[in-house]
Amino acid sequence: MVTHLFSDAGRTWRQAARKNSRGRQLYELLQTQMKGPMGSIVLAQIRSNAEIIRTLPLSISEQVNAHVLQGTLAGLRASVIAEQIKAFFPDVTKAKAGLIARTETSKTQTALTQARSELLGLDWYIWRTSKDSRVRDSHKLMDGVLIKWAAPPSPEKLEGADRTYGNYHAGCIFNCRCYPEPVIDLDLIQWPALVYHGGSLRRMTRRQFERIA
Ligand SMILES: [Zn+2]
Repeated sequence: MVTHLFSDAGRTWRQAARKNSRGRQLYELLQTQMKGPMGSIVLAQIRSNAEIIRTLPLSISEQVNAHVLQGTLAGLRASVIAEQIKAFFPDVTKAKAGLIARTETSKTQTALTQARSELLGLDWYIWRTSKDSRVRDSHKLMDGVLIKWAAPPSPEKLEGADRTYGNYHAGCIFNCRCYPEPVIDLDLIQWPALVYHGGSLRRMTRRQFERIA
């Protein structure tokens, strides 16, 4: 996984820019904003998103977070970040360091997309999966679903699983390769569409969605 977050503002924004002229305008606006107050907003976002990595003491998980953020912003691959973390914490096994680096890198990307979306007043995103056999069932359920940034879902709960991991956004849990695609233009969505609203998945027409959006 290559993460050129600051150099090209991420794949979802490039895709949006290709789709229509509003997307292109937003993309250019973003490029400008990244040089402004974006850095500090993103840092605050990451800090608030930073979960305690359960198997590590809090002070170490904060250092891991800081290091992953630095590496991600520098455009390093997750595998390189994982190697560096391993060097810092020799008692952490390679597999664990890799898992932590991938998870934290993915969460960082989602946090960046969220920060950018909020700056632009985009309240919704579409949950996208990598559409292959390794996508977990609870996330297959979420593919293409409209989600409000202010109200993350619990995919496991929606699936009816016994074990849940709380509410979280696309890409924000271990071994998750999903990502959020910001909703820029309702014309680009196929209606009726699945919407996460009021704690459940509902199929809505555009008119129904506009009433709650
Ligand atoms: Zn996923």
